[in-house]
Amino acid sequence: MRNHTITALWEEIPDDADDLVLVSGGFRIYVCLCGKQLPDRTAAELHAMETGQCSTCLGTKVEDIVPGFAQDCTACAGTGRRGTQLRWQLAHAEAETVITVELVRAVIAPLSGPFRLSEVADTVRESLGLPVGRLPVGPRVRDVLRGLEAMGELIMVSAPDKLLRGTGVVLYRDPSWEHVSAG
Ligand SMILES: [Zn+2]
Ligand SMILES: [Zn+2]
Repeated sequence: MRNHTITALWEEIPDDADDLVLVSGGFRIYVCLCGKQLPDRTAAELHAMETGQCSTCLGTKVEDIVPGFAQDCTACAGTGRRGTQLRWQLAHAEAETVITVELVRAVIAPLSGPFRLSEVADTVRESLGLPVGRLPVGPRVRDVLRGLEAMGELIMVSAPDKLLRGTGVVLYRDPSWEHVSAG
């Protein structure tokens, strides 16, 4: 079997680079050990898929967010495998159906002070009787809480854990929110 190790090499990044383009695969040169031409991110993702590798981390198991900072790939649970990525995508879709906005609202309703993402996720997991690792509970709960924040029901009260590129790309490990008081 040929070796399809795909590597992304950072290009020079201009100061005014678009942060979204930067974190989603831009400003990189993609090469595969097999020698196939990979002119852009899309080509690299396609080649990863056709060789059974995760299309997010391209089989590397880690996601490079900005130069000098990478984290375990969340799309394939750090395996680098396309099969796991597909299973995990289904699990994400299932989590969306099972963990409704109403459920999360009910869990946080009695909380008067700030609450952490991990606390809410744990309570949701317990209330549904889900074993750890069965569904992406944390990511789903985080999306719901961010949605409630966008609707003005909640306010995020924690500062980012890391500024990766000024305030344009930041990282929160376990953020806290609190209810926007009606009074
Ligand atoms: Zn290849
Ligand atoms: Zn991956």
